[in-house]
Amino acid sequence: MHSDCLFCKIIAGEIPSAKLYEDDKVLVFKDIDPQAPVHFLAIPKEHIPSANDITEENSAIVAYLFQVIAKVAAQEGLAENGYRIVNNCGEDGQQTVKHLHFHVLGGRKLAWPPG
Ligand code: 5GP
Ligand code: ZN
Repeated sequence: MHSDCLFCKIIAGEIPSAKLYEDDKVLVFKDIDPQAPVHFLAIPKEHIPSANDITEENSAIVAYLFQVIAKVAAQEGLAENGYRIVNNCGEDGQQTVKHLHFHVLGGRKLAWPPG
């Protein structure tokens, strides 16, 4: 728990969120400013600042997050038409919250390439 981290506060329940899935390792919740009809965030409960901080020791959580994303995407009706998983990393990647998170966007045809 990092007291100055927004997503750690969401995990701790200090800030409310619209949860779609939760277990002891991960939390999935709706993005507060959705960029598509379906837009949710999948995060580890462990505070990992960014994709740049994934190591041999903590990388297993990424595989697990992708497993959970597939399950929640199906629950949200995205399995048939597909969706996009996005990770913004660091300043050039436009990461605003410094707690590793994967965006999942779907429910419409998404543009490519991103800006
Ligand atoms: P980033 O820009 O770091 O990749 O993504 C951060 C995401 O967190 C943004 O899409 C933003 O809308 C979302 N976000 C920021 N604050 C909150 C909040 O308090 N609650 C929820 N549910 N999402 C948030
Ligand atoms: Zn955090």
